[in-house]
Amino acid sequence: MPLLRPLSRRCLASRGPLAALLLALSLAAPAQGAPAAGAQPAAAEQQPGKRPQNKRPAARRSSADGKGETRAARSARAKEKAKERAGKKRAARRDEASRAERGGTDAGADERKPLSKGAPNRGRLTGAVRLRSSRHLKTREGARTWGLPVLVKTLRRAAFQVAKKHGDSALLVGDLSARAGGALDGHNSHQTGRDADVGFYVVNSKGKNLRTDRFVAFDDEGNAIGLPGARFDDARNWALVQALLEDRQAGVKYLFVTDALRARLLAHAAKKRVPADLRARAAAAMMSPRDADLHNDHFHIRVMCPPSMRGACIEESLARPACAADEPKKALDSAAPAATEPDIYGVPSR
Ligand SMILES: [Zn+2]
Repeated sequence: MPLLRPLSRRCLASRGPLAALLLALSLAAPAQGAPAAGAQPAAAEQQPGKRPQNKRPAARRSSADGKGETRAARSARAKEKAKERAGKKRAARRDEASRAERGGTDAGADERKPLSKGAPNRGRLTGAVRLRSSRHLKTREGARTWGLPVLVKTLRRAAFQVAKKHGDSALLVGDLSARAGGALDGHNSHQTGRDADVGFYVVNSKGKNLRTDRFVAFDDEGNAIGLPGARFDDARNWALVQALLEDRQAGVKYLFVTDALRARLLAHAAKKRVPADLRARAAAAMMSPRDADLHNDHFHIRVMCPPSMRGACIEESLARPACAADEPKKALDSAAPAATEPDIYGVPSR
């Protein structure tokens, strides 16, 4: 190696006595990987089929190449670590998606403690969680989808339950609340993270599930308005009501829907021999509040104040329970609870 000696001598001059000693030793010894004449073959060669003992790159075994080899080893280790990190990230993403499907928490959360302050039609929200689309739930484009964690989880679980039972289902969700609550365009309530609008499940003229990206309105016979041949899906919509009411963690208080669709759903439940106590609860929760929007194209779901928020969270709307946009402003000035809202365990007023 004629070029090595002059180079090494320059290194010797610049790196001091220890480098000089190492250099002298390396020059005196046979080169790594090139055994001297008469030397025994490597152990791996003596035992064919057996893995070599040391799989590390040559860079780590040899000191002859010094800095260059160390860099190569470092690079190999860095690549291994990067691969490992990427694997962990993929696994975390899979876990998160799976949690979301089952109703777990969402990454896009306000860090503060969740709190619903005030009444549904005059209040604020902190610690909101954002509802995002998942396999069985789609948020409508442009929807404001912040809510109390209990509401967000309830919607995810219910959508999952319907899909589990009927397959190929996606619950279309419209507005919940703004991130910090307060007045929301187009709604009277939806101010404290306890309200959500969800579209009805729809079937086509052949009875097959029909996915839409907008809320579809239905007449009293269950025919879609403006979507010829499409119909109200009694089975899936009842499954949604059932999932919401049977969810012990949910605390669903109201499901606003027109009288006609409420009657359809209760008739379907009776036909399917759903236990009477569940049908009674459904009858109590489903209602069509006076002077509110006509809920013929969506359910308005409201959850109760979580027990931990008592004192700050006001259960009922101050004047009227609806999410109507056209409520007279003067009605908000009244602090009297709405007379039209029954208790979930009471008798529905209409
Ligand atoms: Zn609403």
